[in-house]
Amino acid sequence: MITIDGSEGEGGGQVLRYAAALSLLTGEPFTIRNIRGGRAKPGLMRQHVTALEAAAAIGSAECSGLAVGSTELTFRPGSVVPGEYHFAIGTAGSTALVVQTVLVPLMLADVPSRIVIEGGTHAASAPPFEFLAHTLLPVLERMGPRLSVTLERHGFFPRGGGRIVLDITPAPLVPIDCTQRGAFKAGKVEALVAGIPFDIADRELKAARKVLTDWPEDAFAPVQLPAEHGPGNALLITAQCDNVTEVMSAFGQIGIPAERLAKTAAKRMAGYLASGAFAGPYLQDQLLLPFACAGAGAFTTVKLSEHARTAAGLITRFTGRAFHFGEDGEGRWLVRMD
Ligand code: AMP
Repeated sequence: MITIDGSEGEGGGQVLRYAAALSLLTGEPFTIRNIRGGRAKPGLMRQHVTALEAAAAIGSAECSGLAVGSTELTFRPGSVVPGEYHFAIGTAGSTALVVQTVLVPLMLADVPSRIVIEGGTHAASAPPFEFLAHTLLPVLERMGPRLSVTLERHGFFPRGGGRIVLDITPAPLVPIDCTQRGAFKAGKVEALVAGIPFDIADRELKAARKVLTDWPEDAFAPVQLPAEHGPGNALLITAQCDNVTEVMSAFGQIGIPAERLAKTAAKRMAGYLASGAFAGPYLQDQLLLPFACAGAGAFTTVKLSEHARTAAGLITRFTGRAFHFGEDGEGRWLVRMD
C-alpha cells in the first residue's frame, strides 16, 4: 500500500488522478491524505469524485472515502475492463481531466473502449477540448494506439452541460522521440462566444493580434456558438508545427477584462514558439505517464512545471522508474527516460 501526502509538490487534483491511473497500471493500492492540500479549498470537488469513480469503474477497484469534501481516500485496483462507459460530472468540472485518469490504462487494454463524458469542456485550469483533440491525442497516437475524440456540446463554467466522446483502440506503447518540434506551419486564433455579447470576441482577437504580430489577419476569427451552449467564452490559440500542434487557451471570467486574458494566452504562445521546445507548459506533465508506460522516450519542453515534477515523483513511487531532467541554459528542458 503506497501512502501519498496530497499536499506535496503541486498539491492539486493531478496527484490524485495520476495516483489512480498508476494504481490501475501497476496493481498497487494507495491511500492519499491531505487531498488537494496545496489548494485554497482542499478536499475532493465533484470533478475529482467523478474522475476517481471513472478509474474505479474501468479498473474494478474498491475505493473508500470518495465524497465531495473528503480529504482522504483509499483505492484498491482490480483488473482493467475496457468497453463502453458513460461518466457525468454534473458540474463544469473538466471532461478532459476525467480522460486524463482513464486514458492510459485503456490504451493498454486488450480491446477498444468508448467513453462518453459530460461536464465542462472549456473551463479554467484544465485542458480545453481542442488541446485534447489536437495536442495530446495526436502525440499519443504516434506511440501506437488509435484515439479519437469528438465534441458533441460545449460546456462552460459555471453551467457545464458539455459532452465528449472518446474512442480508444489500444496497442502496446512504443517509445517516441519528441525532441524536435519541426517548422512552424500555421497559426490560428479563435474566440468562442456562446450566449454573451459578440464584441468580447473582437476585443480578445485584437489583444491577441497585438502580441502575435507576424500572424496573418485571417488567422484571427470569432466563432459564434449556439446561445444554449453558453453562457461562455474561450480563446483558443493554435500553432501547428511539423511534429506537434500546441493549443494555448484562456477562458472568459467575470471581473477579468477580456483583453488581459487574451494577452496572457497570446504571450504564452509567443514564449512557447520562441523557445523552440516541443511541449508547452501543460503538455509536459501529460506526456509523462504514457512515456513511462512505453519504458523510454524523450521530449523537449519550456520551463519545467511543478505539475511535471510532481507527476514524475509519483511515477517513481509506483514504478521505481525515474525521468531525467536537464536544462539547456536557454529556458528549454530535455525530459527523458531510457
Ligand atoms: P490540477 O491543477 O492538479 O487539477 O491539474 C490540472 C491539469 O490540467 C494538469 O495536467 C495541467 O497540465 C492541465 N491543464 C491546466 N490548464 C491547462 C490548459 N490551459 N491547457 C492544457 N492543459 C491544462
